[in-house]
Amino acid sequence: MRVEQRLREVRDCIAQVATASGRSPDVVQLIGVSKGAPVEAIADAVSAGLEDFGENRVQEAAPKVPFIKQRAPNPIRWHLIGHLQSNKVRPALDLFDELQSVDGLAIALKISGAANRDIPIFLEVQFAETTGRFGFAPDNVAEAFDIIAEYPHPSIRGLMTVAPLGLEPDGVRQIFRQLREIRDRLQESHPSFGPLGLSMGMTDDYAIAIQEGATVVRIGRAIFAA
Ligand SMILES: *Cc1c(COP(=O)(O)O)cnc(C)c1O
Repeated sequence: MRVEQRLREVRDCIAQVATASGRSPDVVQLIGVSKGAPVEAIADAVSAGLEDFGENRVQEAAPKVPFIKQRAPNPIRWHLIGHLQSNKVRPALDLFDELQSVDGLAIALKISGAANRDIPIFLEVQFAETTGRFGFAPDNVAEAFDIIAEYPHPSIRGLMTVAPLGLEPDGVRQIFRQLREIRDRLQESHPSFGPLGLSMGMTDDYAIAIQEGATVVRIGRAIFAA
């Protein structure tokens, strides 16, 4: 199946689930996760109208971003969704339009010090050990939020999570619900803050995430798997 057709199916599914949950489909932003995908497949997705792409690693994104930029008719937005090492902050700021995986206070402050423009970020919350991932503990994210919010940039646009591996759908739903509750409390305690988003949901669980209020879904395999 071609990327274009897969993308159409994913979009249809997002629209269906959103509508069935009483939400408007256009409040759910789709990020196509292109890690591991060849540039040709990314170019196909661009041709099919996708404008947001997620990559896990600075090193992998480095050649892809300029390649696509030269060929895309419209501006493309790149989102970092993997752990950022402190020695990669500068190249990450050059490559990415948004950092979705800010997973600790030290890296957030490092970004603040290195950024010479406003850069939108999401704080990653980790509910249980997930192989190879980091994140704020659910109980610590509010405190970190307050500290980061004191700085002129980066600007916090929401919370992000990856559901731990091996959970049943009910367990995944609980995780997404908890992230939404943390977001709701932050929004309530910071009324002057712009609307905070929820980046949650991947190929296997994006329907649940949309039902639980996701404003961003990050989908790789359903679009790009060979
Ligand atoms: C790989 C990845 C995705 C996409 O996962 P799929 O299961 O391929 O849809 C989303 N978010 C993060 C953080 C990822 O690392």
